[in-house]
Order: sequence, then structure tokens, then C-alpha cells
Amino acid sequence: NEPLEVVDPEIAEVLKNELGRQRSTLEMIASENFVPRAVLESQGSVLTNKYAEGYPGRRYYGGCEFVDIAEELARERAKSLFGAAYANVQPHSGASANAAVLSAIAEPGDTILGLELAHGGHLTHGMKLNFSGKLYNVVSYGVDPETFLVDMDVVREKALEHKPKVIIAGWSAYPRTLDFAAFRAIADEVGATLWVDMAHFAGLVAAGLHPNPVPHAHVTSSTVHKTIGGPRSGFILTNDLELHKKLNSNVFPGQQGGPLMHVIAAKATAFKLAATDEFKERQERTLSGAKLVAAALTSEASKAAGVDVLTGGTDVHLVLADLRNSKLDGQQAEDALHAVGITVNRNAVPFDPRPPMVTSGLRIGTPALATRGFGDTEFAEVANIIAQTLTESGDVESLKARVKTLADAFPLYPGLEEW
Ligand code: PLP
Repeated sequence: NEPLEVVDPEIAEVLKNELGRQRSTLEMIASENFVPRAVLESQGSVLTNKYAEGYPGRRYYGGCEFVDIAEELARERAKSLFGAAYANVQPHSGASANAAVLSAIAEPGDTILGLELAHGGHLTHGMKLNFSGKLYNVVSYGVDPETFLVDMDVVREKALEHKPKVIIAGWSAYPRTLDFAAFRAIADEVGATLWVDMAHFAGLVAAGLHPNPVPHAHVTSSTVHKTIGGPRSGFILTNDLELHKKLNSNVFPGQQGGPLMHVIAAKATAFKLAATDEFKERQERTLSGAKLVAAALTSEASKAAGVDVLTGGTDVHLVLADLRNSKLDGQQAEDALHAVGITVNRNAVPFDPRPPMVTSGLRIGTPALATRGFGDTEFAEVANIIAQTLTESGDVESLKARVKTLADAFPLYPGLEEW
């Protein structure tokens, strides 16, 4: 029972250095967030010891009386948060939730229609090296080359042409909301199942600041660790009892063995927090921060330096910087921001002229900084730092100092060493 720093000082050092990195830099990777202390407590708890194959009340192991309560709470809270009749909270990750969804609603060889990876779709929506691309016949819709928006007339044409078994609505990099009712109408017209993957925007949905896909989709999957800011994991919702039963058996035993009960307990807490006024206020700051970043990157000065924003702005928690005409490519821009202490990821823009390892874009997200406490004043400052970095119009040392001032003003996990 020695502490980590005695048992394994090398790993203890990794934890210490990572905490230092998270504290001293500004995290703007759109899919990341900071979990609250309460979530860290569950994840580092004795629940990690428990096997609980099966579902509450129907387990294949004894001694599940307490973990059953945790899973029941997580399911009930997920249902109430998103207005769903049924929930499965066992998926270990977003990708495993999606594997269970696809195996429940399609047979290998069936056609699936989703947003093209290069236009903001996810690996699990049909990328050729992913299980989804290997098992299914993948057809894609892209964004419009002029507006960079999903055009529902094109989605309908593709659906009529290919008669997919599954239509997927959801994205990893798209700055606008999707029309779920229109997707459902198309799915109904061609007899497809509509699956919405709300992994990215689920926190905004929970706060009532983004259209809720659950009333429209046959099945909705999500992660818990992006805008929701809970433990790294997934969950699945549906309003259809028969589909729910199929989803359950496709999660366990279909895709997974024992559920991670420490993570499921942490999901319950994350869902509880997501129903509070504080959570809604945080999501409002997230959205407002993203709009401020978009405004800075579409200013006259930014545009003059060839920096712009896809679709001209954002309705969600992320901005897609368009660097096709700028001096810096995606890789150089990511490195330049890293050098001043801001972490983002480079991202191909649709129809990107540069190779995927280089790209002509950046994905910049505000959820983690909103969780850290940033409001409009701080987001305006960070937006200005980003714009000056990307247009190479600021002195690197002074940009670094401004990042440090922001990071110091919003201490992350204060006192964590003493917990
Ligand atoms: N679905 C979407 C839309 C995502 O963006 C992601 C994460 O990037 C996932 C699923 C997969 O989540 P995970 O990384 O937990 O497997």
C-alpha cells in the first residue's frame, strides 16, 4: 500500500508533469475538458475492482448491490437530461458505443451513409481502416464547396440513390448545427435507421443550447468527456424499447465484457452536474467564447493575412480556422500556438489542398477554458492572442506572457496535491 511515487516514481513523474502542463497552458482542443474533483474521486476509487457483467439486477457476478445503484443512477440521469426513454451507460468510449450501435442496426455488408471524414465526420462513421469501413458499405455526403455547410438536398439525393440501411448525423469537426428533423424525414423516406452521434455537442444539448437529436433519431450515441466534461467514456439513448434491448445485447456481450463501474459512477455524477444552472452558464460561456474566437479570426487584419473561419462563424463550441490562404499551414499554425502555450489540433479543411499530416486548418474549441472559468473578457484576450499568433503580428515572448497571465488567473485543480 505504498503511494505511487514510491511504487513507481517514473509514472508519478508523468502525472506530476501532465498536471503542470494542464495548469500552465491554455487547452483549446475541442474534444477535451477538465473533469471536476468529484469525477476524479470515482475514477480513482475501489469501484475499479468490481466485475459486473450484465445489467443492474441481472448480473453474472455476485456482490453487485452497490455498483447496481451507481449504474441505475447514471441511466436515470442520462434519460432525464436528454429526454430519452432508455439509456445504456456501459460503453467504455465513444468508439465502443458506436460499434455497438452499428452492430445493433446494420448487418455487415449493409450500406451506411454518413458525413465524409475529410469534411468533419468521425472514424467510426465509415473510415476505411476502422471497423465501420471494413464491415459496411460506406457512402458519404460532404459539405457544400461554397458554403461549407451540409446541404440537406444532397443528403436526400445520396439517400435516394444508395438506399442506405443507416443514416448517420453527427460530426467531429463542423461548426454549425444539423437539422435532425430533416435527417429523420429522409431516413423515413428511404426506410433507413437514423443514428445521431452527438459526442461533441452533447453538453450543449444538455444545457438546452443546441437542438436535441433524441426526439428525432432512432438511436443517439455520445461521449461523456467532451462538452459534458465527464469521464472519458460513452453512452447510448433511444426511445424504442425493442431497439434498446438490441443495443443492450450489442454492448454486452456483443462488444464488451465487464463494465468499468468506477467510470459509470463518474458518469452518474457528470450527468447530475449537467442538470445544474452552473453547467448551463458554463455552456453559455463556451458558446460565447467560440463566437469571440471566430470574430477575431474573421477581422479585417486576419483576413488581410489570409486567415479566415469556415462558414464565417460558429453555432457550437468550436471554430474551424481556414488557413488555405495564410502563410502558415495547419502544422505550422499548431506549432506556433503551442510555442505561446495554447494547445489546439490541426485539422484538414474540406477539399484541403494540403496533405492530411500538414492540413490547411485548425480546430479550436472553448469547452475546457470555459470549465476553467473563462468568460467573455478572457476569451476576447485569448482570441486576440490566437489571431496575432496566426497572422504573425505579435511578439512571441509577449504573447507567451499574456497566456501565462490568463493561466495564472484561473488556477486549475488548486490544492490537488493535498486531496
Ligand atoms: N464520435 C464522435 C463524433 C467523436 O468526435 C469521437 C471522438 O473523437 C468519438 C465518437 C469517439 O470517442 P472516443 O474517442 O471516446 O472513442
